[in-house]
Amino acid sequence: AKEHGKGHYQAFVEEMDSAFRYRQRLKSDLAIAIAEGQLQLVYQPLVELGTRQVAGCEALARWTHPELGTIPPDVFIGLAEETGLISSITKWVLKTATAECVHWPDAISVAVNVSARDLRGEDLALHVAEALEASGLAPDRLEIEVTETALIEDREGAAAKLEVLAAKGIGIALDDFGTGYSSLSYLHGMAFSKLKIDRSFVAGIATSERSLKLMANVARLGHDLDLVLVAEGVETEEQLEIIADHTNIDQVQGFLFGTPLPALETRALIARMNQT
Ligand code: C2E
Ligand code: CA
Ligand code: CA
Ligand code: CA
Repeated sequence: AKEHGKGHYQAFVEEMDSAFRYRQRLKSDLAIAIAEGQLQLVYQPLVELGTRQVAGCEALARWTHPELGTIPPDVFIGLAEETGLISSITKWVLKTATAECVHWPDAISVAVNVSARDLRGEDLALHVAEALEASGLAPDRLEIEVTETALIEDREGAAAKLEVLAAKGIGIALDDFGTGYSSLSYLHGMAFSKLKIDRSFVAGIATSERSLKLMANVARLGHDLDLVLVAEGVETEEQLEIIADHTNIDQVQGFLFGTPLPALETRALIARMNQT
């Protein structure tokens, strides 16, 4: 039994060690990934509930590692925050997403995710301005998505930075709403134009009256504050129907309307969904 225990410990150490080395490897490879074009953007539509037309698309980053294959953003965005590479990634995402958005009809906007470190650093406003300038995209067609967690560390500083962007007409969305700590307090004194209700709420609405009530009341509150309300993670027709019948949610996003798609396929999807 003793040997058995030691074996487990040894395996544990080796596993930890290899997980650590895996992360180290990814960190150093990420630096060249941007330069060598290993990152791509895919887009997921936000659909206006009333018209079933595409109102905007969220840009989501993908990394295809030449040897290790697909690395999910939940992994490499975190690594990029640790190394400071996130600033270059966000710069690239802004540039790529705005350049793509000009190919969409005027009514359709593009949303870009920014991280905690972007909000602490000094580059974001510059990178946004450069992307808008290079693409010629109108500022009101760009939206920046931030999570509550990204606002925790330096709330005042983040609020000031978002205010500058909002003053230019750029939309600011509070992402994953309902998963953070003091959710409602973030609605004070912040320049939000949109609230994206986290998919954990949507997951419950078909089976739980309480989830539905929560969602309907968050939507009511958000509308009182003049926010556009989005339900994330809509996967079934049933969820869509419940949302349409029992809440005043404006837009929905989720696998029901497809998984995120590469640029050209997104253009085709928009043409299909927004034809009149
Ligand atoms: P997020 O911003 O909340 O993005 C939505 C995530 O939910 C995406 O995962 C999307 O594919 C997934 N999703 C969409 N519809 C559904 C659905 O109906 N059901 C379920 N279960 N999932 C759905 P993805 O692309 O893997 O991104 C994960 C997270 O990584 C994002 O969460 C975001 O926080 C981060 N991320 C992705 N791209 C970027 C980026 O360019 N910059 C930064 N800073 N973060 C990014
Ligand atoms: Ca997002
Ligand atoms: Ca989200
Ligand atoms: Ca309704």
